[in-house]
Amino acid sequence: MSDIDERIERFSTMTQADPTNELGFFSLGRALVDAGRPREAVPALQRVLALNPGFSKAYALLGSAQRADGDNAGAIDTLTRGYRVAHDKGDLMPRNDMAQALKELGAPVPEIKTEQLSEDDKGAGKLKCSRCGRVAPKMPEAPFGGDFGTQVHESVCAPCFREWIGQGTKVINELRLNLTEKAAQDVYDQHMKEFLNIS
Ligand SMILES: [Zn+2]
Repeated sequence: MSDIDERIERFSTMTQADPTNELGFFSLGRALVDAGRPREAVPALQRVLALNPGFSKAYALLGSAQRADGDNAGAIDTLTRGYRVAHDKGDLMPRNDMAQALKELGAPVPEIKTEQLSEDDKGAGKLKCSRCGRVAPKMPEAPFGGDFGTQVHESVCAPCFREWIGQGTKVINELRLNLTEKAAQDVYDQHMKEFLNIS
């Protein structure tokens, strides 16, 4: 069985066992998209949004699955709703991805102002947050050790990091990560990078 089939099977089993497992459905949808099966990904991702209508990245992925399946009208509807949700929540990366997809589909993108970081702001120890795009004070210190901790400290505002802590707990529980294992730690770090829009 290929790696991708294994992922699909694992997340199918997980979501059958628990129909409220939001990240399980999201991971199933992503695996089906990766496997070139967008039509089957659509209901899994719609389920994610029924469970959590504030999950910006699920709109982005559902829109791309609908588009890959030839349902451009459905994709435009999903991406337009998702764009507003992502903007309200300050999810910069999915918001920008959805704006790009709407443009490619020839659909209008709502106009949005973005904040700029001035020299004064820099002198006052502020940053332009990689996740929400707001100009905000840095956290008093790096939230954890190592180069990645420093990078987060230089890039992310305190409210966004607090949101990640909640999301990180969900990632550990729903994806059943045992963080003493290197592979699980890598999955956790990858989710954190995506959530905080850090590469
Ligand atoms: Zn932020």
